[in-house]
Amino acid sequence: MNGNLFTTIEAAIADPARPFLHADGRKTLSYGDMLETSARYANLLASLGVKPGDRVAVQTDKHVDSVWFYLGCLRAGAVYLPLNPAYTPAEVSYFADDAEPGLVVCEPGSLATLRSTLGAAVSRIETLDAAGTGTLQQLVRDMPATFNTVVAGPDDLAAILYTSGTTGRSKGAMITHENLRSNAMSLVESWRFSAGDVLLHALPIFHTHGLFVAINTVMLSGASMIYLPKFDIDAVMAALPRATTMMGVPTFYTRLLADNRFDRAAASHMRLFVSGSAPLSAETHRGFTARTGHAILERYGMTETNMITSNPYDGERRPGAVGFALPGITVRIADPETGTPLPQGEVGVIEIEGPNVFSGYWRMPEKTEQEFRPDGFFITGDLGYVDPEGYFTISGRAKDLIISGGFNVYPAEVENALDALQSIGESAVIGLPHADFGEAVTAVVTARPGRTVDESAIRGELESVLAKFKIPKRVLVKDALPRNAMGKIQKNALREEFAGLYT
Ligand code: ATP
Ligand code: MG
Repeated sequence: MNGNLFTTIEAAIADPARPFLHADGRKTLSYGDMLETSARYANLLASLGVKPGDRVAVQTDKHVDSVWFYLGCLRAGAVYLPLNPAYTPAEVSYFADDAEPGLVVCEPGSLATLRSTLGAAVSRIETLDAAGTGTLQQLVRDMPATFNTVVAGPDDLAAILYTSGTTGRSKGAMITHENLRSNAMSLVESWRFSAGDVLLHALPIFHTHGLFVAINTVMLSGASMIYLPKFDIDAVMAALPRATTMMGVPTFYTRLLADNRFDRAAASHMRLFVSGSAPLSAETHRGFTARTGHAILERYGMTETNMITSNPYDGERRPGAVGFALPGITVRIADPETGTPLPQGEVGVIEIEGPNVFSGYWRMPEKTEQEFRPDGFFITGDLGYVDPEGYFTISGRAKDLIISGGFNVYPAEVENALDALQSIGESAVIGLPHADFGEAVTAVVTARPGRTVDESAIRGELESVLAKFKIPKRVLVKDALPRNAMGKIQKNALREEFAGLYT
């Protein structure tokens, strides 16, 4: 059997005339269009000399052709390597040196700079753009509309995705066809995707969430998607009536809640809202239910593993929790030092095993070895615990754990307590160097619109909910918290900004 993900995608097409992609200003594109255009791109890749296993690095905006090109890469057996369009040429150069792509694809506007920055390291650079005038788009028209999808074995790579770089330099995660196939199948099942679904797609497609979770799930269920270039509140409100489901990062949901047009009527026809990539605060979860009657389904995953846990489709979607292990995946809470499983309720490192787990970090064998236990479990680096009903809750990243006066303080617990206070919009809790405590628990917050944050009042209010050692020594107010494109709070940036606060 051909283990290429595209073979499974193709087999799931019940009727090529069914709609696949709705984009503004274009006719609806069908599954038949998808088959044809992806075949043309696969032929083009072969004609450019891209062989199975070659890396193809892509730094473009979110176009329709970027989807066709991703699928063309799958079919040609190339290893798809998407890059955030916000990366500078110098950053792209780091990834190109690391991954040695046989082909780099960019926007026409960045061709000249990229060519001079990358120099001789990359033999071929081509372009794609929204208008269809890129070099690949000109060549692809003359290519045949059929292609025999390249055979992939269980270990063959479909993609290398660089992690978001939240805790340090991004690492290239090697992802196989089987990782993607198994995960997309279980999401279709777990979230009850079917051909009648229309997914509102406003996520970027250089990251696991928008690329794999969203698009692969749509394709394996025969659903369609409304493909928006980005999350623009007016465009999202306009598209919502035609959608049945939406996947978003937590900031999508806070932005929807900040808009008065988003009310019960606007969401009444929707089947499902999914959140992930960063913690969804229990406050936002509850606010969303109060406004719309819908409980957001929060799930947890990472670049290295695709999706790991999910709240249930049927049953309670618990605010602040990330739910249960997906089918076929084993999740355990272990002692960070030894990897020994911990009793229910104790906080430890989240470790996982299953067909979703990547095959290692690209050209980092030592790093790869460090992140796996001898029995094959992958150490996620996230801390968490299981409650008596089996729901997993994330307590923060191991790297963000604060040790203050010898006590462990889990940032998520303090953030939840802060978010529940009337005056606070969002919060990030970090540890900063402190002469007496080693690290001092410090909160950086934003004020809720129309409110002001009173530092000593906040600390007073926390006394009734948190043990004294967990209460932030300082509560600092900013207009906004630094976030990346996936809505992840950049705690490294905050630690740097306030490094000298207590010294
Ligand atoms: P890097 O590994 O380079 O530091 P990163 O871990 O942010 O960056 P990603 O792979 O994009 O890169 O993100 C995975 C991480 O996102 C998880 O390890 C977890 O910390 C966080 N995450 C994802 N979903 C959730 C969620 N529902 N709740 C809390 N955290 C989440
Ligand atoms: Mg990570």
